[in-house]
Amino acid sequence: MHDKSVALVTGSNKGIGLEICRQLAKKNITVILTARDHLKGEEALKKLNTSNVYFHALDITNPDSIEDIYDFVLKKFGRIDILINNAGIFLNEDKTGNVLTLDIQHIRKTMETNLYGAIRICQKFVPLMQKHNFGRIINISSQLGQLSSMNKTFTAYKISKTALNAFTRIIADELKEYNIKVNSICPGWCKTDLGGWDAERDASQGADTAVWLALQPDNSDSGFFFMDRKKIDW
Ligand code: NAP
Repeated sequence: MHDKSVALVTGSNKGIGLEICRQLAKKNITVILTARDHLKGEEALKKLNTSNVYFHALDITNPDSIEDIYDFVLKKFGRIDILINNAGIFLNEDKTGNVLTLDIQHIRKTMETNLYGAIRICQKFVPLMQKHNFGRIINISSQLGQLSSMNKTFTAYKISKTALNAFTRIIADELKEYNIKVNSICPGWCKTDLGGWDAERDASQGADTAVWLALQPDNSDSGFFFMDRKKIDW
């Protein structure tokens, strides 16, 4: 790990993303906390109350917003070592509908954030990682995207996470000549706005495997799916 490593976490004004920022900052990583809403981002930054976390606005569905944060990162740090594709949505319509009735627009909207957003961020930032031949990319996926246990319900969300996992495999292979590791993780069912407040785990537990993977050495795994620091089936 570089002694001035820089991490960018998408969708980190709350939930698992905020906890990932907190845990990375404790490991002396310079962290860029991002939020699509300025006020929410500034509020989250205050909660962390540490000098090695910076806030910058980012909406991963908006190419101009991605350009903007890329310029900020380039000017301020000149590198990015850790990229956590955490931002995600789970639409209410998807929680009640079924595959035969779900409006295709809801699938499209879910993919726009959960899949295309992560792809867009990688397309912008990976060349900077390649320049330094270093990178750790973690895609925050879900067990709900596992094909090995795929079943009905939550159609749009499940499809988006399965597709995100496919993207993990594809980009890990694309980058295998570089010291850039790409993995998917499932944080487990966590108490957040997305997971609901009856969930089993705290967001801090959900953040653990992503932070652990972000700090792995050069000979570590790439192109796998992890939960609780262990490999799981796709
Ligand atoms: P959360 O508390 O709802 O946080 C989601 C974050 O994503 C928020 O900061 C949200 O911003 C942001 N976001 C949504 N759309 C965005 C966009 N277009 N651009 C930038 N940021 C955007 O949810 P969470 O539970 O922490 O979820 C984090 C990740 O873990 C997601 O990928 C989710 O699918 C995954 N996950 C969660 C669970 C669970 O049980 N909680 C389980 C498995 C996987 P706003 O505040 O502006 O909405």
